[in-house]
Amino acid sequence: HASGKDIATPTRTKEVLEKYGFSFKKSLGQNFLIDTNILHNIVEAADLDSSKAAIEIGPGIGALTEQLGRAAGHVLAIEIDQRLLPILEDTLAPYDNIEVVHGDVLELDLAALVRDKLSGYEKVSVVANLPYYVTTAILMKLLESRLPLENIVVMIQKEVAERIAAKPGSKDYGSLSVAAQFYAETEVAMIVPASVFIPRPNVDSAVIKLKIRDRPPVEVDDENFFFRVVRACFAQRRKTLLNNLMSGLFDKQRKDEVIQMLSDLEIEPSRRGETLSIDEYASLANEIIRRQLLGK
Ligand code: SAM
Repeated sequence: HASGKDIATPTRTKEVLEKYGFSFKKSLGQNFLIDTNILHNIVEAADLDSSKAAIEIGPGIGALTEQLGRAAGHVLAIEIDQRLLPILEDTLAPYDNIEVVHGDVLELDLAALVRDKLSGYEKVSVVANLPYYVTTAILMKLLESRLPLENIVVMIQKEVAERIAAKPGSKDYGSLSVAAQFYAETEVAMIVPASVFIPRPNVDSAVIKLKIRDRPPVEVDDENFFFRVVRACFAQRRKTLLNNLMSGLFDKQRKDEVIQMLSDLEIEPSRRGETLSIDEYASLANEIIRRQLLGK
């Protein structure tokens, strides 16, 4: 599909950066994509069409943004770096369905933005080449947001993508895996070499696709408490499940009752948090509430 006018070609990107005398800020995770094929693959994974809206986090100079503008009905692009605003006004001038919002995605009220600016759209997807220093915070905010999201398709560090998609029992499995898999079906869509960015990042990258579920795969009585239990069980990876539970959640007088509960649930107290499935975490959290084991 590549078109000579694409912002993401190396020549065009250099031209734009030179014209504005732009210097990269490492602290803002600024690594811009200069490969149109990768951009097409990212946009394709998001299943967009003109009836759908997209939110982009960190448009940079607009390389991915313009592809989203071609694929979606409307695009909201949230950029923190004020120096990029005049550049985006220039590069995205041909697209009347793209709106740039200046701000920190972690501070902005996304629900209000969606309500005010994307009200005509039933489905919204987030598509981005994320600033790596805040990957986890952004993903957690999106997953817990209760926005009407269909897909989250994002470029992130390969290592974080592997953690998100990890299965129980693997060393990469942690509270991020449980959270992502609770809210979404996860899939590593592609591995991306450092050479398609300027400047090159020091890590390998991957595009991960999170297809948001209509409802969680397990029944959980209290979502906040479920995640509190998960975090407690992963608090110290070398500790057993029982020890993490006792130090994170329970009064020490409750130890026998906790052991009894684990035995009734057929979960060995000597297991590690990283071996429990989402199902087992759900039964554990629900059972703690039902037995009212938290109080003194
Ligand atoms: N989308 C562009 C591309 O693919 O070439 C740029 C991606 S670059 C990895 C990340 C972008 O996110 C930068 O433009 C950076 O300024 C912006 N950014 C960093 N922190 C942000 C934040 N907290 N909120 C919004 N944008 C942020």
